[in-house]
This record gives sequence, C-alpha cells and structure tokens, in this order.
Amino acid sequence: MQRRKFIKKSSLSGLALTMLPTLSFASDNEIEYSILELMGKVDIDLYGEGINLRQEAHDAFLEMKKAAYSDGIDIKIVSSYRSFERQRTIFERKYLRYIDEGMSPLDAIDKIIEYSTIPGTSRHHWGTDIDVIDGYPKVEGDVLVPNLFKGGGPFENFKKWMDENSEKFDFHLVYTDVAKRNGFKYEPWHYSYAPLSVPMLTQFRSKNLMQILKNEEFEGSSEFTTGFIKNYVRNNILDINTSLL
Ligand SMILES: [Zn+2]
Repeated sequence: MQRRKFIKKSSLSGLALTMLPTLSFASDNEIEYSILELMGKVDIDLYGEGINLRQEAHDAFLEMKKAAYSDGIDIKIVSSYRSFERQRTIFERKYLRYIDEGMSPLDAIDKIIEYSTIPGTSRHHWGTDIDVIDGYPKVEGDVLVPNLFKGGGPFENFKKWMDENSEKFDFHLVYTDVAKRNGFKYEPWHYSYAPLSVPMLTQFRSKNLMQILKNEEFEGSSEFTTGFIKNYVRNNILDINTSLL
C-alpha cells in the first residue's frame, strides 16, 4: 500500500513538473500585486470605453450587461477605476469643506469615511469595482443615493435584477445593508468582481497600512493615529460582504 502510494505520488509529481507550472501561473491567485498598484499609484491596463476595468472584470461585466439588457435593464457605470490622485482630490475637497464649516479635523474625517475612502485604500484603485445604476430612468442630480434603489425608487427593478443575477457573473455587493455591519454605509450601487478582488484584498491586508499612510501627505493625513487606522482597517476595509473576504 505504502509502495503504491509512493509510486502514484511520484508519477504525479513528474507530471506536475512538466505540465502544471504554466497552469498554476495562469491562476489569478498566484499573481502578486505591488503595494503601489493596490494603492492606485501604477498605471494599469484598463479595458472598455466608459468601463475602465481590468480585462477579466471587463469581460464579465459585458456578459452581465448583455444579460441585463435582455431583461430591460441598462447597467450603466457611474464610477470604476480611480487613481490615488483622483481619490486624493475627492478626499481633500471634502476635508477642506467640512473644516470650513467648522468641524474638527477628526470629525471631518469621520464624516468623509461614511461614504468615501482615504486615498490609497479605495477598492476603486484595483480596477475590479464598479458603482452602477440603471441607465433607463431619467434621474436628476446625484444618482448614488440609497433611497433611489429602494421600493418605489427609479432603480428598484435594477437592484432586484442585480440581487438575483450579479453573482452569476461574479459581481458581489460590497457594502451590504446587514444591520450589524460597521464601516462604510450601505451602498446598493457598489459591486466587486470577486475572482480578482478577493486575492487583491488578501494581499492588501497583509501590508502595514499605518506605515504606508505615514509616508503620504495630503490634507488631514497628519491626523491619522495608529488607533484610528486600526479601526479603519477593521471596519471600513474588512467589515464588508463576507463573500468578498
Ligand atoms: Zn464605489
């Protein structure tokens, strides 16, 4: 029995040497992303006009869009890839506005991170995440408002379709409306392409975010303490849909 097992094993490893290396390199879990890439500081190849996702996520998005279209839904991307610099602009604009309104720096940051991320920590840096709506109903003003996706809202059917179908295309809602979830508020519009973003999050969380953010200088960044960053990682980065962990 022992002998047979051994032979079986060694012939398998012989096979592995000749055939498997190319296969394993093709797996996304094997890809290593640099911290600069995960922070949106590297120009990555993005695909699709108005889509701007990594190729695999782009292809899956088009499949999902096609399927939705035949059900009368026009999935429209409001936001997808965002660079560090773009996120920095968003963060600083909000920060300076809240400070102008008389908020303390820490209150301003707490208010920003209800919906927006600290530059370098956005899932939109990865080319895997999208904010989407239905392009058919005409909606004036800000479209990323939770009420618009609820019963009676213009995106009600869209949300229902996404609930039933998005995961067939590997797109998962990130910031769910689970009552006990902390961190970012419920975002019925933000979906993530799991086959790429799950390994990316695994690699991102293995980095020392405090050390990384210490090297950054933007409005408000000097307020970050170790305790604040620890909470931010636990709540805003990791308290998400568990299927994306
Ligand atoms: Zn988003």
